[in-house]
Amino acid sequence: MRSAEDWRTLVACQRPEWPDQVRLGEVVDDLTASPSLVTPQECDTLTARLAQVAEGKAFLVQGGDCAERLDDLSTQAIRRKIVLLRQMSEILTSASTLPVVTVGRIAGQYAKPRSSPTETVDGRTLPVYRGDAVNGIGFTQAERQPDPARLRRVYDASQYTMDVLRGELCTSHEGLLLDYEEALTRRDPRSGRRYAGSGHLLWIGDRTRQLDGAHVAYFATIDNPIAVKLGPSTTPEHALALIDRLDPDRRPGRLTFVVRMGADRVRDLLPELVEKVNASGAPVAWVCDPMHGNTFQAPSRYKTRRFTDVLAEVAGFVEVHRALGTHAGGLHVELTGEDVTECVGRGVGFDDLHRNYESACDPRLNAGQALELAFLVAEMLR
Ligand code: PEP
Ligand code: MN
Repeated sequence: MRSAEDWRTLVACQRPEWPDQVRLGEVVDDLTASPSLVTPQECDTLTARLAQVAEGKAFLVQGGDCAERLDDLSTQAIRRKIVLLRQMSEILTSASTLPVVTVGRIAGQYAKPRSSPTETVDGRTLPVYRGDAVNGIGFTQAERQPDPARLRRVYDASQYTMDVLRGELCTSHEGLLLDYEEALTRRDPRSGRRYAGSGHLLWIGDRTRQLDGAHVAYFATIDNPIAVKLGPSTTPEHALALIDRLDPDRRPGRLTFVVRMGADRVRDLLPELVEKVNASGAPVAWVCDPMHGNTFQAPSRYKTRRFTDVLAEVAGFVEVHRALGTHAGGLHVELTGEDVTECVGRGVGFDDLHRNYESACDPRLNAGQALELAFLVAEMLR
């Protein structure tokens, strides 16, 4: 029999090089003794609602920052994000006549997978910023040193955010830091099943979905609703194997696939994936992330995305599902209620990016752009 912690023997891609294992152990012990941020019942309720998405009877709106920031914690900013997500959900529910399940990328979205372990600026190389859960964004050796004490600060910030959200909104984040996730995983005394206590829905990123890796193994041990990001390198065989590992009982609502192929590739890559998964009878929910396949560097070097590409990827996603008779189940987007200039289009040009570029990682839609996206997607769903 496999034990719940067998994932520890496997390779965890993107694991930070924590400099002080003793200190890490102390923080992990402290978190292990701290209360869970969500209850098993809340997680089961979300699974039941996502089952509706998988069955074509509901639509998911999931959104929030690419990376939350510890120093930006503000009740007002959290409220503005909730209001924006609610408005998007209302726009989409009135057009599609389906109930909308709203989930924040919030209260725990503090760790980032990166494509390179280092960053070089003006000839100087330092460890890359991996999110406020790991290190600081400032370009100094001290800031970039991973610090386990940050895990406790992330827990406290997530709890504060949960208190602002309480009762309103389900939470989600990438389950990247397995030391943190395992420390907050609890066995439900009623059912004997394990639940991640850090948020309602956790997802596996496109960079950590290896079948023989620690992330897939850990996610197989928890009973929360979970998602996996699927980028352009995903084969249908890989998707089917993920289903076998992560949803062996074929429980509707358990597994959501968040696809992020890029606007120019979604029509080529998605049909075979959906067709084969659908033919297998697996009850997955299909959700479109139109952000991560469409990132590029502006002439000014800011990371950005074109609003038109974001819209085009959703259009391709919806078309593919229409053609196959499957359900285009939802949207997963990076957004903020603040008036940022990070994505181009709808009033933001390349020359505006410097004005209010606040993201610590990927560019987010501002409130105007997010609402416009909701209106245009609503038109597609009519
Ligand atoms: C993200 O959602 O911020 C992210 C890193 O996505 P992906 O794993 O799809 O690249
Ligand atoms: Mn991102």
